[in-house]
Amino acid sequence: MSMLSGWIERLRSMVPGGQLPESTMESTPRTPHPRILTVDIVGMCNLRCPSCPVGNMGPVNPSGLMSEELFHRIVEKAVTDFGIESVVLFNWTESLLHPRVARFVQHVKSLGLYCMLSSNLNVLNDADAIMEAHPDHFRISLSGFTQEVYGKTHRQGNIERVKQNMRMLSTARQRAGAHQTRVVVYYHKYRHNLHEVAPMREFSHQLGFEFSDAWAYYMPLEKLLRLLDGQLPPEERRFVEDEFALPIVESIAAARELGPDHRCNLLDDQLVIDVHGNLAICCTVFDLRDGPNRLGSFLEMSSEDISRSKRDHATCAKCTAHNIHLHYSYYDLPELQQKYDDLATRNLGRPEGD
Ligand code: SF4
Ligand code: SF4
Repeated sequence: MSMLSGWIERLRSMVPGGQLPESTMESTPRTPHPRILTVDIVGMCNLRCPSCPVGNMGPVNPSGLMSEELFHRIVEKAVTDFGIESVVLFNWTESLLHPRVARFVQHVKSLGLYCMLSSNLNVLNDADAIMEAHPDHFRISLSGFTQEVYGKTHRQGNIERVKQNMRMLSTARQRAGAHQTRVVVYYHKYRHNLHEVAPMREFSHQLGFEFSDAWAYYMPLEKLLRLLDGQLPPEERRFVEDEFALPIVESIAAARELGPDHRCNLLDDQLVIDVHGNLAICCTVFDLRDGPNRLGSFLEMSSEDISRSKRDHATCAKCTAHNIHLHYSYYDLPELQQKYDDLATRNLGRPEGD
């Protein structure tokens, strides 16, 4: 994914200059108007990152590949019913595992929509076709420069393969003349990997890529709620306490201090759909088997059905009670971002395992 990256950051990346309309940040409720369609075109990932549900919850949801036909119907409905402007081809999965990923990008671009991909880049089968499809934003998500560091939080990944694929992607981008495609290396910061931010930044710039970094956080919402309820198994709790630079429990307490009644961008502004066409309440939840977070089959739901199913949702009540929706969008709330930087700095001064 995808994961550990705020939705607003995705939106910001889609707006020239990164300036979001005022309405995106307002704290008063307004009529939901989804502008982003987030679709998992595959139902799997090749890695098992412990901060991500793929690694910490396992194969909960059915896997598979989305057909182009289903994808076209979903996009058509999202445009017709909601006026969607952007399509994001990932949530909890590795979209480059789809053998026809470039054709999905092509389709989105043929409709004049913004298109974003994100990849761990351990696999890159057809760099030329992807770049020739001219996605607007291609994110490379990683957490280290050497295998020893990277492999700890991108479990089962191989950073040397990633670097080789980064070189291939850079060459393919030049060959395709895809200069308008932003390739952004997105570095997840933990306690153990801060010293490798600089070499990865330099390597990325050498290849003509942009670079950004952010404090890693713990996903998905289901696990975070268990952490806050004291129900996480001791080993996982230790992982959360020992590995994150941003202290997770304290950071949620800081988000809670912002008070109630902040609208949730993640609820209002995006439609999140799994590989089988099911609509999820939002991008932060993972388990879509039978529970309340699977709202229904997107193609069979009217706009009213969707609004109704999202309204007063039980999961949102639990989430907003802690302001977790703000926690997951922290870098779009300057006051929270400053607090999080302070919290992380203080936490980094603490001896490991303390
Ligand atoms: S690469 Fe890691 S973080 Fe991304 S979806 Fe796969 S397991 Fe999750
Ligand atoms: S309030 Fe929480 S659960 Fe509900 S949509 Fe927002 S982030 Fe998701």
